[in-house]
This record gives sequence, structure tokens and C-alpha cells, in this order.
Amino acid sequence: QVVTRFAPSPTGFLHIGGARTALFNWLFARHHGGRFLLRIEDTDRARSTQAAVDAIFDGLKWLGLDGDGEPVFQFARMDRHAEVARQLVAEGKAYYCYCSPEELDAIRAQQKAEGKPMRYPGIWRDRDASEAPAGVPGVVRLRAPQEGETVIDDLVQGEVKVANAQLDDMVLLRADGTPTYMLSVVVDDHDMGITHVIRGDDHLTNAFRQYQLYKACGWDVPRFAHIPLIHGPDGAKLSKRHGALGAEAYRDMGFLPEAMRNYLLRLGWSHGDDEIITTEQAVEWFTLDNVGRSPSRFDMTKLTNLNGHYMRGADDARLVELLAPLLAAKLEHAVDADGQARLLAGMNGLKERAKTLVELADLAAFYARRRPLAFDDKAAKVVADGEQMALLTEYAGTIEAAEWKKDVLEEAARVFAEAKGQKLGKVAQPLRAALTGSSVSPPIFEVMEVLGRAETLGRIADTTG
Ligand code: GLU
Repeated sequence: QVVTRFAPSPTGFLHIGGARTALFNWLFARHHGGRFLLRIEDTDRARSTQAAVDAIFDGLKWLGLDGDGEPVFQFARMDRHAEVARQLVAEGKAYYCYCSPEELDAIRAQQKAEGKPMRYPGIWRDRDASEAPAGVPGVVRLRAPQEGETVIDDLVQGEVKVANAQLDDMVLLRADGTPTYMLSVVVDDHDMGITHVIRGDDHLTNAFRQYQLYKACGWDVPRFAHIPLIHGPDGAKLSKRHGALGAEAYRDMGFLPEAMRNYLLRLGWSHGDDEIITTEQAVEWFTLDNVGRSPSRFDMTKLTNLNGHYMRGADDARLVELLAPLLAAKLEHAVDADGQARLLAGMNGLKERAKTLVELADLAAFYARRRPLAFDDKAAKVVADGEQMALLTEYAGTIEAAEWKKDVLEEAARVFAEAKGQKLGKVAQPLRAALTGSSVSPPIFEVMEVLGRAETLGRIADTTG
């Protein structure tokens, strides 16, 4: 059975690269009918925060990428990690090293001066424990192979290798007995039964050392898949300005989770020329064969357009629900039942005009506003124009008893404008200002129908006094 994991360090929000890693692991597990596990790598006590843990869980939840079973917290498993290191020492696969920090500094300084790579030269590798200086706590180092090479058949990068002479005997347990990151990751992945490690290619160099550690432990090595990182539109490392933001920032910008999933999927994975890929299709199609080998570029415009597509197809009632908190913040009052009903009735005309929920809230707010309306600058000018308002009042008089259907109302406006020797726009413009407080809106006769007779005539009366 396939078991994948997402293993973020809780030192910040769930950023876009992490969200993509989570998505790929989730899709791979779902595609294979396997399990997707979460592990919080909180061993860096100084930088890990509860707020970051919460932000990561919230972000994953929003994206619909819930893990199977309870998440694992790495720090809590410290004793288990240390036990594995001590077991390796007992088996001769790891050893205690008693070099002092000063000694190591001196070695590094010399290697640097000679232009050599900085490597621990194995000073305690073959020394007897009886030589250990009294009172000096040792660190535990892996007795790594010194000859040959470590070869990884990466599912994205292909065959990658490193000469073992390039790697040194890495530390597994620090002098204070705490496990190093490298040890914790390997022990946890093994204990969690991880079969596929899918993560950013910034971890590729770690994979060689991790491979050596698996071998020393006598454990099966999981398959690795290192995904190229996400770059900015200019090809440089993704910066905040380019979109290296937390998932919650995208939610707050008004993106739908399904659009975000589709977009993240296309950041580094492809299926022919398909751009619109539903999550169901993604689960069906996702394999690691179609992960690209070069970095993908983050493109906000593409994300926004994709979101527009998903907005147009979204269920109206769901959109009303998603809008409610945005509108409450905007209007400074909750959307009442009438407002909700109007939003629902008008949603079809609204959603095709907005690419994000934030745009939709801007566009939809007038349906939920309380009388009397406030006017934007352009609308305020129209409302202040006595001539236009007189025309509007007169038109309102002709429809008081009309059948309240947009076609009927529009026809009435046409007939009225013609009788006045005016264009239809001369009626529509003050109508729009009075009913929406703005100079842009969905088709105004549709707005009238959605608002209903009483509210429409009331809003007109508010502006004409
Ligand atoms: N905790 C690491 C990170 O946040 C991921 C380690 C891994 O996936 O092996 O970058």
C-alpha cells in the first residue's frame, strides 16, 4: 500500500510551495488508494510555534487536503529517535565522537585554507571508547561508507548519485543527547511506513545521507520524488511580492480551494494541454511521470482566471455562504434573510462578472445593503442631477402596478424613454445609481426583478425624495 506524508516545519504559514507538496502527496496517495499522513517537524524548538501549526492545519483544511489519521509531532518522538542512534552504536554502525567544537573549528579552518570541502575527517571513527576524555559528552556519528557511491533512483530526477567520499560521518545525536533533523526524519518516515517521499528538490542532497542512514538501520528505503521548486514569473526564487504567501492569504484574496488545487497541480505537473482539471480528474490521472523537471513559474493572472472559471461554475448557494462573512465585514452588519434571498436570486448575474470572491463581494454588496444606500462618486453625481431624477420618478410611476418581471420592466422603460424622446440609457443610468449606489452592476432590469417591487420603489423614493 502506498503511504505518503507531508512534513512541514511549523516556523511559518503554509506557503504555496508547501501547499503544492501537500497536494502532490495527497493526490499520489488517493490515486493509489493509499494513505496520506501529516507530520509536524517541530524539533527546532526556538522557531516552531503553535500559531504556525494552526495555520498549517487551517490551510490544509481549506485546501481539502486532510491527512489520514492523527498527525505525528516529531519532537514528541525524540526518545525513539535517540534509541535508534544508540542501537546503531551498539551494532557498530555509528560511534561516539569526542571532538571539541574548537577542534572541529580548527579542522574546518584548515580545510577552508587549503580550498578543500569541509568534511569531518573521521577522527573518532576507529578510536576505542576507552580513549574518551573524561567528562566530555560525545556526539553520535554515523559510520558512513567511504568508498563507492550512493545512488538514488529518483522518480522525478532520475538516477542521481554522489561519491561517498564527498559525504562525511554525519551527527545523529548531539552532545546534549538530542537527535538531529536527519535522524528524526528517517526514523519517522520508517516508523510511519512511508513508501514515497515526495518533496521539494531543495531536499535532494539530504536524500543521500538519509539513504545511508536507512541502509545502516537495515530498513527499506522509500522511493524518493524531488519536485523542482516554484519560481517567480521572472524565473528568480519566489518572493513574497510574487506570491510566496500563506494559504490563508489566498483564501483572503478570494480564491476558491478547488481553483487553488487546480492551479497548484499545474505548477509542475501536466496532463497533455489540459488546464482545467477537476480534483476528481487529478486523482484519476496523477502519477509522478508527468512532473516536470524544470522549475515552474508562479503566475497570478493565470490563477485569477482559473478562479473565475471555477466561480462561474460554482453552486449559487455555496457562493452566498462564502460571501456572507466578506459582506458582513464590508457592510458592518450581518446579511439578513432578505439580503441572502436577493444574493441567491441574483447570483447568476453576479458570478460571471467576478474572478474572485472579493470582487464578487464588491459587486454583490448592494443587494445586501440597508436603505438608504450610500453612493459612490459617479452614482452620487447622477443622484444629484435633478433632471435625471425627475425622469426616474416618472418612470417609477409607470411601473408601480406592472408585472414584476425583468422583460416587462425593460419594455416599460423602452416605451417610456421613447415617449420622452430619450435613449433607454437615460432611464437605466439613474435607475442603476438609485438601486445599486454604483455606476456598474449586473443588467439593471434583472436587478429590479431580484430586488422586488417594494425594495426597488423604496430605493428610488430614497433618492428622489
Ligand atoms: N520539514 C521539511 C520542510 O519543511 C520537510 C522535510 C521532508 O519533507 O523530508 O522543508
